[in-house]
Amino acid sequence: MKRILTLSFAVLCLLLSAVLLASCGPTKGPSEHEHVWDEGKVIKEGTCDPATKAETKGEKLYTCTICGETKTEETDGHVWDDGQPLSQPTCSAEGQTIYFCTRCRKGKTEPIPKSDTHVYRAGDKGRIVTPPTADKPGELEKICTACGKGIVVDEVTIGDYNRQVRTLRNEINQFTNADFNANSVVRTRQEMISLSGRTFNMPPTTPTAQHPRVLFNASNREAIAAELYDSRSKAAQLEFLKYVNNPTTGKLSPAGTRDDGFHNFDADVLNRIQALALDYQLTGNEISGYSAVRAMLNYLKTMDFQTITGDYERQNGFVMYTAACVYDWCHDLMNDADRQRMVAGVQHKCCEGKTNPQGTDRMEIGFPPSGQHSIAGHGCEYQLLRDYLSFAIAIYDEYPGWWEYIAGRIYQEFVPTRNEYYKAGMYPQGVSVYIRIRFTSDLFSAWLLKAATGRMPYDEEGMKQVARTYYCYELPDKEGFASGDNGAPVDDFIVGGRATMISSYLFNDATMRAQLEYFGQSYSSFTTAFTFSASVTEYLICSSGGTKAASDRHEDLPLIQYNGGWLGQIIARNSWNADQATVLMKIGERTMANHDHADAGSFQIYYKTTLAGDTGSYDTYDAAGNKFPHFKYYHQ
Ligand SMILES: [Zn+2]
Ligand SMILES: [Zn+2]
Ligand SMILES: [Zn+2]
Ligand SMILES: [Zn+2]
Repeated sequence: MKRILTLSFAVLCLLLSAVLLASCGPTKGPSEHEHVWDEGKVIKEGTCDPATKAETKGEKLYTCTICGETKTEETDGHVWDDGQPLSQPTCSAEGQTIYFCTRCRKGKTEPIPKSDTHVYRAGDKGRIVTPPTADKPGELEKICTACGKGIVVDEVTIGDYNRQVRTLRNEINQFTNADFNANSVVRTRQEMISLSGRTFNMPPTTPTAQHPRVLFNASNREAIAAELYDSRSKAAQLEFLKYVNNPTTGKLSPAGTRDDGFHNFDADVLNRIQALALDYQLTGNEISGYSAVRAMLNYLKTMDFQTITGDYERQNGFVMYTAACVYDWCHDLMNDADRQRMVAGVQHKCCEGKTNPQGTDRMEIGFPPSGQHSIAGHGCEYQLLRDYLSFAIAIYDEYPGWWEYIAGRIYQEFVPTRNEYYKAGMYPQGVSVYIRIRFTSDLFSAWLLKAATGRMPYDEEGMKQVARTYYCYELPDKEGFASGDNGAPVDDFIVGGRATMISSYLFNDATMRAQLEYFGQSYSSFTTAFTFSASVTEYLICSSGGTKAASDRHEDLPLIQYNGGWLGQIIARNSWNADQATVLMKIGERTMANHDHADAGSFQIYYKTTLAGDTGSYDTYDAAGNKFPHFKYYHQ
């Protein structure tokens, strides 16, 4: 038995050694092992000619140290130096090294692979994108200007963060009820009705029981945060970071003489406050959130609009609308006293009372907003459809009477009138000037009600058509057919572009997004022309819906545009090119007065220039008498 085992073992050893030996044996193919090449032998010197810089390659012979197989390889004729960096690699581009031949001075470059070195704006302090918790430090991010990515550059320690939050919270606690006359605040619908002497139906719906719900809700948050890094939103990103990285205190300097009165209105500060409140929603950074609350209360406390020429419900309303965003977006950072002070500040300083020597109401529509009308006039502007409405949505949980009264009026009076307008797919107050104030106001109410209740209040197809129609008024050289009280000449067809922006967002309209990116000034400059231009916050929300610009800004716009309903109008053209021939024919079954004109049965013709046009530029409005040509010649 022992012998058999020994024999077997010997056979096994033989077999094994045969296998092992075969691994580099001359009888096996070269593929059986990885060749190990020696250091090689020069069989032909490479060289170059200093006169012509022409290269003659050399040759080197290599032998495998295991099996003896050989191969030859070309060698450089030039003698390269160690090289100098020509450009450094970044996160988004390769660098380059330049080499010179020490014999003939010929040069060559070679790429340096991309590095992980990011580039930041000078003075960028970074933005807290993740606040710290008890067991995890937070993240401070800077956005790389080369690759556009957000890069975590530092930790945020809980101690430092909490200190800043506590300081802000303490500052907010210093406000008193007396600062805002906060002991008297309207809370119920009944109070609204007895103050105004007017009743409206209860609205058919209520805001959802959650915050945020002004302009967006929790389901939009991620997309808004992502839009900040989109390459099309670079201008918005810069503006937003500027606001967030340098929080405003909201304290206004004392009122003084301005071009338009004696006041201290500041649109820029309001845009900054709105951006801070949005940042809190996007990151949970309480430094931004409490900064927004502090700034809004400071603004309300220090605002002093003694006289503002023109329609100063626009300034007062813009303050109220910004307060709506802060109240809603920072709702969980505020206690009952903070909220009551903010509501009181808005009620007493933006809504009630009179400010200028003529004794005009702060809000022309009144407080409660029972004045003016739903067809034309300032009643159709931001004051109700954006400012009162947004504030009513924000404070609904604690002060439900505002929603019940304000939304009640909108659903009862404004929704039916607008659905009548939209049967024509057009708005009746002219194209350039009043689209950007009044149709934008309609769009705000649609946007606000959709985000707050989940349902669009208006006929969507008809409302979507309005923006598409006004681009059919466009003529070559950024002009347009006159319509109602257009400021003439029209040098930039739709100034500001905010109506187009909101419309492309609400109706997911790629053609309107393309028009916005072609025309819209607010899209890249974010001016403080607050009645015309979008704020950076509005831009980011409206761009977060995923609508990309169509490649052609006239995509699926018809050459013959028909608008029925009360308007009865055709705009027919043979092309969108500079040599187009275009006519506008208007039956005009109804006129809505105000900035609409009595121009039923009119026509306009354009070919290379205006061959038959419509006049009626808005100089002085004279609703009461007929002293001025505007009223005399265009309205009757
Ligand atoms: Zn070998
Ligand atoms: Zn050379
Ligand atoms: Zn980078
Ligand atoms: Zn007019």
